[in-house]
Amino acid sequence: MPEDLIGKLLAENYPRQIAYVQKLIKSDIMSHSYCFVGSAEGAQNDFAIYFAAHLLCHKNCGQCKNCQAFQNNIHLDLKVIRSLNNQAISLKQIQEGQKHLSVSPQLGQYRLLIIQDTEFLSLASANALLKTLEEPPKKSLIMLTTGRPDQLLKTVRSRTATIILPKLPTKNLLNYQISTEEQKWIGGRFQRLVKLTAKNLDDFHTWQQDKEFWLEFIKNDTVQREKMVNDRFGSIKENRSLGKLLSTGLTNLEEVLQTLIQNGEEKSTKRLELIRILKTMLDDNVNVKMILDYLIVII
Ligand SMILES: [Zn+2]
Repeated sequence: MPEDLIGKLLAENYPRQIAYVQKLIKSDIMSHSYCFVGSAEGAQNDFAIYFAAHLLCHKNCGQCKNCQAFQNNIHLDLKVIRSLNNQAISLKQIQEGQKHLSVSPQLGQYRLLIIQDTEFLSLASANALLKTLEEPPKKSLIMLTTGRPDQLLKTVRSRTATIILPKLPTKNLLNYQISTEEQKWIGGRFQRLVKLTAKNLDDFHTWQQDKEFWLEFIKNDTVQREKMVNDRFGSIKENRSLGKLLSTGLTNLEEVLQTLIQNGEEKSTKRLELIRILKTMLDDNVNVKMILDYLIVII
């Protein structure tokens, strides 16, 4: 059962937190709001969805009306708000969430609102949310998630019960084989956690290896870089294939740099700007070999 799989992944990686929320669900003594605090690329969104699924059906049986509606993403009592394309979460989105909470539960016990990646709340939307956290409607439950708790208003955080999900240790990663059927079921719901733990998700390894390649690349000097580029791209003669491979590579390099910047490595900001220029050049059909030469020398 795919539900069991997600439960297994979470239970293995976060046994204390899972035991805690299961106790909460059974005891029925619930806070009005929870904040799941993880790390960048962490499992906090998956955890909130998992929590919601178990609140809608305690046994998560997979058969009842609640489970069926949840699995088809049409459960009337559950609403998920998230940042679209890394844009701020708008006041309008929060107001829609408030409207959702003001209605009585239709199928389950609670009206549930999940606000993902709350570091994207605008000041206006954070303040609007604060009002709801101060006076939550009856039978409502709000779940916030964030990978950047430092960027969330303290007043918002102080009104929620926090559940911390530390970054997964590397030894726990990549331990699971996930079948195609399971991948289909998982769809967009539990992506982060699965990406962190799955062995054979499409191209996962390629993606990971490519990132490692670029991380090594930027640390090397130009002589080493040239060698790396030759090893990787030298055998590809056709310009279009070369362009495609480089385009994916630049996107991955961009992600590597963003991570470095998030970890406080400021000099990568300049590099990121340069990569974006190279991407534009690639889109404008500038000669791929020339772009590779730039990459070796100027990044
Ligand atoms: Zn059920």
